[in-house]
Amino acid sequence: MCEFCTQHGEGKKWYENITNYSEEVFHQVNSEENLRSFLEGFYRSLKVDVEKAHRWKKRFPRIYRLIAYPLLTRQQKKTHFGQIIPLEDAENILDSTATIVRLPCICRKVTTGKEKRYCFGVGMDLTPIMKDVPDFSEFERLSKEEAKEFIRHLDAGGNTHSVWTFNTPFIGALCNCDRDCMAWRFQMKMDLGRVMWKGEYVAEIDPERCSGCRECIRRCYFRAINYDRRNAKCSVNLRNCYGCGICRAVCKDDAITLRDRTEIPAVADLW
Ligand code: SF4
Ligand code: SF4
Ligand code: SF4
Repeated sequence: MCEFCTQHGEGKKWYENITNYSEEVFHQVNSEENLRSFLEGFYRSLKVDVEKAHRWKKRFPRIYRLIAYPLLTRQQKKTHFGQIIPLEDAENILDSTATIVRLPCICRKVTTGKEKRYCFGVGMDLTPIMKDVPDFSEFERLSKEEAKEFIRHLDAGGNTHSVWTFNTPFIGALCNCDRDCMAWRFQMKMDLGRVMWKGEYVAEIDPERCSGCRECIRRCYFRAINYDRRNAKCSVNLRNCYGCGICRAVCKDDAITLRDRTEIPAVADLW
């Protein structure tokens, strides 16, 4: 289990601990004014501050790496970070939370300029706060079945799932992302800091079943699958794998499964 499970899981995975979605935890670490002002500044922060950090990193790479990167990472862990979860865990969350709303995706607004609705607000009903914030006010309420159907459709289409805190450990969002995600770009493409933690699982490919079609390589956007020409099969680079499980949906040979990260000593502590 990761550090967040140890601190906030009460014996479970921290995102399975339903109190982390509750009003009680929200009020322990947050306030309505604080969340409203965070949401109001979110678009600008993704659009302007990320670009600024990127410029700083280019100008002063060593200083950035030694000072800004760890500072930003530490700050994100306290305020707003995500952890990748597979479809099964996402469905369990949707089954156990009281409120589900679908929201416009702020990252895709920044990266594509279009309004796409891939984010879920889950748990405590935050709509009284969101209704006053322009980027978040156009929410739609979904039933559990509607939300699960939609998330399965997104999974089949190659979107990973992740839970997000708004002042840790309060969890307020279940996101569904692809390469247009600003968190992915911030962390994987621009290498500006860590905002997204690896999941509790890693993928494994059964070589007996793998036909070497390479569809999983095209699907994985964490560069975690390699093709070996010698045996014409794919295998998972466990160190890169985030355990999202979206590669499974494209494998017609049913060769990919998820294993608990802690069962594999080489990556048990790699988040
Ligand atoms: S984390 Fe994913 S779903 Fe959430 S706002 Fe960003 S791209 Fe959209
Ligand atoms: S999609 Fe499945 S069969 Fe195709 S290369 Fe990947 S693991 Fe092998
Ligand atoms: S190999 Fe790992 S990171 Fe890549 S799609 Fe599969 S589960 Fe996700």
